[in-house]
Amino acid sequence: SSDSLGVAPILTKLQKDCATPLPVLRHVADAMAADMRAGLAVDGGSDLKMILSYVDSLPTGNEKGLFYALDLGGTNFRVLRVQLGGKEERVIATEFEQVSIPQDLMLATSEELFDFIASALGKFAQKEGGKFELPQGRTREIGFTFSFPVKQTSIKSGILIKWTKGFVVSGTAGKDVVACLNEAMERQGMDMQVSALVNDTVGTLAGARYWDDDVMVAVILGTGTNACYVERADAIPKLTKRMSNSPITIVNTEWGAFSNGLPLTEFDREMDAESINPGEQIFEKTISGMYLGEIVRRILVKMAKVGCLFSGSYVPEKLVTPFVLRTPDICAMQQDTSRDLEAVESVLYDVAGVKSDLSARKTVVDICDTIAKRGGRLAGAGIVGILQKIEEDSKGLVFGKRTVVAMDGGLYEHYPQYRGYLQEAVTELLGSEISKNVVIEHSKDGSGIGAALLAAANSKYE
Ligand code: ADP
Repeated sequence: SSDSLGVAPILTKLQKDCATPLPVLRHVADAMAADMRAGLAVDGGSDLKMILSYVDSLPTGNEKGLFYALDLGGTNFRVLRVQLGGKEERVIATEFEQVSIPQDLMLATSEELFDFIASALGKFAQKEGGKFELPQGRTREIGFTFSFPVKQTSIKSGILIKWTKGFVVSGTAGKDVVACLNEAMERQGMDMQVSALVNDTVGTLAGARYWDDDVMVAVILGTGTNACYVERADAIPKLTKRMSNSPITIVNTEWGAFSNGLPLTEFDREMDAESINPGEQIFEKTISGMYLGEIVRRILVKMAKVGCLFSGSYVPEKLVTPFVLRTPDICAMQQDTSRDLEAVESVLYDVAGVKSDLSARKTVVDICDTIAKRGGRLAGAGIVGILQKIEEDSKGLVFGKRTVVAMDGGLYEHYPQYRGYLQEAVTELLGSEISKNVVIEHSKDGSGIGAALLAAANSKYE
């Protein structure tokens, strides 16, 4: 049976190292706002790239016609078509398909990856019919959601800075990803073209804004994490060449790279050191779905070794494999309300091949909660940082009226405790009065329609 004498001190230290009391949250929010400002001043001025999206008009509801969207940003990619009917009819019809990216293509060449994507999109386009109608002689236009760091060069071009989230594709960095996709579609003889290149956060913001004028910020919490928001053009010192005279533009923060003042543990440091991008994406590694399970796994390994979590200093063989314990597993364990923690028992047995007693299972749940709590609360502090930055430049614009933060991503959608901790931190930071005005809202799969809306707004036929 587990030796609570060995385990308890490790758990106590972990909870102390991961603690996010109000002063820590406040520091993170303030540092986020300051880093945003530094990134807006000059390129390279901050951990936060504060990438200009070239999206400076938001959907109005008047968009009309057939548009496609393609979303590449993680473990899955999605293709979608939407028939837009303008103010009255709005979204007449949508259809989508989801394709999971084979593991080997995440480690392949750029041509191989883009050929796979183009081919899936081509097959999907061939099934068009029913309510979907393209005027004669027109090319199908695509809103391409691409959720990796890109140096955008126009609404329909952008240079990949680097792959993240486990993608190690050779030959794309430094290239225009729209050209990569357009060339792959040409190789397959397809008559389709990218009209808008958007980050998934930007797509989510556009999609949510189509239905609700108060949306100012969009946040993705899935495999990775990112956030964007509506900024005033005159609050962006580094914005010198303007393509339009719109007073606003969407800024993609790339907040996953934030690192200032985060409560980190030895487990985070070791995971980072052994990752493919050491020293980078520290906020992402602390709060996003790709990593929460892995952090918990590393803690379990140490507790097994040093604290005798699973009878003696036995370390289950499977448990030493990086990333075997996934965030959905720790989420499932936290939902277990049975007296004997049967679901925890079976996750530990299935994933780690380990037989656990009740005391070990309770400890495991406490660890999951500690890591989810830290992640959710820090994500909440980051959101408040963005709202604070907007408020500082425009007194009353966000805190004096209803303001919506559109949320999307599998982690936010499926992990109720994480979501609760996030909301709790926002309320703690803003206080009960102001937080009544700040609505944090799930905007499910808004990013697909959002990208199609931006393709419509930037159509070559308009
Ligand atoms: P992606 O970010 O890969 O484009 P999603 O937004 O759907 O796609 O997010 C998927 C991620 O969400 C997974 O990698 C996982 O970390 C997280 N996730 C999915 N299901 C759950 C779940 N049941 N509980 C907690 N996290 C989940």
